Amino acid sequence: MAEEKRLTPMMVQYRSIKEQHKDKVLFFRLGDFYEMFDEDAVEVSRMLNITLTRRGNQLMCGIPYHAAKVYIKRLLDAGQKIAICEQVEMPQNAKEIAKREVVQIISPATVIEDDFLDARSNSYVLCVSLQKRMFSVSYADITSGEFVLRSIEVEKQFSSLLSLLEQVGPREILVNEDEYFSNPDFQRVIDGRTAMVTKLPPWYFSIKDGYASMCSQVGTSSLKAFGLESTSIEVASGGALLGYLKDSAKTALQQISHFSVESEDRYLRIDESSRKGLELLANTFDGSERFTLFSSLDETITSAGSRLLKKWITFPLVDEQQIMERQKWVTFFVEERKELERIRPILKNVLDLERLTSRISMGRSISHDLVGISQTVHAFFALVSEHYQSLLQEELSEEKLLQLVEVVKELDRAINDQCQGPFVEGQVILDGYDATLDELRSIKGGGKELLDTYLAKVRKETGITNLKLSSNKILGHYLEVSKGQVDKVPPSFYRKQTLVNAERYTSDVLIECEQKILRSSSEAEKRERFIYEGLLEKARSMQSQLLAIAALLSQIDCLQGFATAAIKGGYTRPTFVPENRLSIEGGRHPVVEQQLGMGNFVPNDLDIEESGERFCLITGPNMAGKSTFLRQTALIVLLGQIGSYVPARKVEMQIVDRLFCRVGASDNLARGESTFLVEMQEAAHILRSATDRSLVIVDELGRGTSTQDGMSLAFAVMQTLLDMGSKTLFATHYHELAHLDNSRVQLLTLQVLEQNNQITFVRKVIKGIANSSYGLNVAKMAGLPASSLRTARNFQKKHFAEYGMASPQLELFADHEQGQTDLPSLSGEEEQVLSRIRDFSVESSSPLSALLFLEELKEMLEEN
Ligand code: ADP
Repeated sequence: MAEEKRLTPMMVQYRSIKEQHKDKVLFFRLGDFYEMFDEDAVEVSRMLNITLTRRGNQLMCGIPYHAAKVYIKRLLDAGQKIAICEQVEMPQNAKEIAKREVVQIISPATVIEDDFLDARSNSYVLCVSLQKRMFSVSYADITSGEFVLRSIEVEKQFSSLLSLLEQVGPREILVNEDEYFSNPDFQRVIDGRTAMVTKLPPWYFSIKDGYASMCSQVGTSSLKAFGLESTSIEVASGGALLGYLKDSAKTALQQISHFSVESEDRYLRIDESSRKGLELLANTFDGSERFTLFSSLDETITSAGSRLLKKWITFPLVDEQQIMERQKWVTFFVEERKELERIRPILKNVLDLERLTSRISMGRSISHDLVGISQTVHAFFALVSEHYQSLLQEELSEEKLLQLVEVVKELDRAINDQCQGPFVEGQVILDGYDATLDELRSIKGGGKELLDTYLAKVRKETGITNLKLSSNKILGHYLEVSKGQVDKVPPSFYRKQTLVNAERYTSDVLIECEQKILRSSSEAEKRERFIYEGLLEKARSMQSQLLAIAALLSQIDCLQGFATAAIKGGYTRPTFVPENRLSIEGGRHPVVEQQLGMGNFVPNDLDIEESGERFCLITGPNMAGKSTFLRQTALIVLLGQIGSYVPARKVEMQIVDRLFCRVGASDNLARGESTFLVEMQEAAHILRSATDRSLVIVDELGRGTSTQDGMSLAFAVMQTLLDMGSKTLFATHYHELAHLDNSRVQLLTLQVLEQNNQITFVRKVIKGIANSSYGLNVAKMAGLPASSLRTARNFQKKHFAEYGMASPQLELFADHEQGQTDLPSLSGEEEQVLSRIRDFSVESSSPLSALLFLEELKEMLEEN
């Protein structure tokens, strides 16, 4: 209390506002600065490296108003939210202080300005709430108005939720604070993401209130049209998300005019780790887009197009009709090269219409945004020829397009296309658009005409021939009379200043002219703003057309991008068949192929038939190309299901329902899980969820434990997958698995040439089992010192017979153990000698040739 007493009224105001925004940095407007006080000041000065000052006991730091964007961006990047508090009413007298209010909350979810956004990525905020054994999940991007609702199963390890979080990649996650704090596993999943986490009080999630607020958002009395009931669990998160967005953005969010309820069944299901392993949007090496499927495929031209491509890659389809609809357009562009070449340059003139429209809807646009809208609409009309009629939906009916044309014509006549940044008087509306504005401007522009007329009149009346009319900053406008003619000055002139050779005067008429000029200046500004606001309103009324055009252009951009990638990469159109099979002729890995350069990649085939061997066991040494073959198969299927052409000579496939890709597990230290645990969790997930329509890719299973445990587990997983009938590619270095009962297994290996004690990887997938792991050979290629290699070989010879084979757990494979192991106990030369002996035909050889053969073998051994 004592401290409160000492506070100035302004600090009392500050603290009461801060009290309501404890979780944000409060930017408190004071003149030309945003000031921060108390802990905010300490924190921000540390984060942004700006000076912390002290006034009395008060810690503070400030940033200039005009440079705020740079600091806001840095604070957002550092995971902070910002509340912008402005002076909303000036004080009536000197004793009062200005009224201040928070006018905007800036968080990753509510930014809309280009400076804070990545043009090529969506900016999603996702809200999740637990509702009776289901998750209610909603996510939205206010920069485009997209709003999606879902309900997903609560599975073990939250795998569906994790997958969706990976797919959507939100910048901010909203949770019910009660659920978050009462469920440590859920909390770990949420905190495991890089997104900002906002905990909302439980009342945000009321289905009843949420339903009402969603109805009022779209101006309907029910949400039936969107497939939502007043009890639908999706509404719990949807209503909370909408409420939060409105509270933060502090505007109506007109761009949210539609809710999409999506079911999991619409898309190919891919779990979180498979997405990561397949390096769809980010590589596992540095998390960037380099060497990803996205980067190999991205031939889009517009930023909205590349955002849509990311979405398509993230959500492959399962509905054949929808896939074929995209494929049809890709074929059109591949075949109609001229049309492709015609539209690509036009797309270069397309700006980010989604974001421009949303900014205008939220009242956060800058004047140039209207120019951007006009430019993009022109590009749209230049692009849409009769080919695209079928893409023009209801929002783009002829009537609606005509309305748009009128608005755009008006924008073109009105707006100065050179204007930049925020509204600056005199720079936005062109001369000649509005007669009133033109007049006000001409008066304001010094009122030259007005003053000239007055001067001519006074000259005539007084006969002062050298009467001058000028102005300066101190006197304003004045009449100047040289000393010689002062006697002609009429009584209506008042003296203002005496100079050595002249006198300066003003008059009532001149004062009136001056006031008129001043008034017209502020009136011109008002008029210009009024016109500008009117144009913004007109543009806002075109929102549905503009968003439909934005959606159509990004779709065309993506489809032409598929066609361009197909032409450049020599991709072909996959065919979808009703039988449950996958047949790939001359398949290639789109990313590795690009790295190696066209023509250097060895294509490979795969054939999995409906009633054939659906489980492919792939053995082969390290570096032979197993992983590449596995991943390329998954990527080809995925590309097919997003509607793209595929890197292969020919593909016939049935649409896959789920895709699993267990490759190279790593520790998940954030979730406190070891490599082996993660690997087993993933295996468990596959065995629980795969069906006979799924594609399962497993690259080395059971590595993170002892050989015996690992091999046993790999065997067990293999048996289960065999029984389930999933299309499976299973690469293993446990060659023993290939020697077991393999009647239902396709044995594949990668061809390796052995010559002169050297191995060459041919990268060709052939039927068979690998002869050897060639581990030492690969180590030699990698440059392991000869002495170490020798030690390894001796160790192998000495230990593996008694140690490896005597292992009790290997009984499981007792059938083939005698003499069969993938651990090479012989050197390369010795194996070659053995192989020569095996091939030697004793019956058909003479004693001499047998002797010569013996000598040759001896030489082979002695060479080393
Ligand atoms: P493995 O999984 O058997 O250890 P990888 O699949 O990782 O082998 O392949 C090793 C390297 O071989 C890859 O980085 C790639 O450069 C090259 N490679 C793989 N497959 C092919 C292929 N079909 N054509 C050309 N090079 C390939």
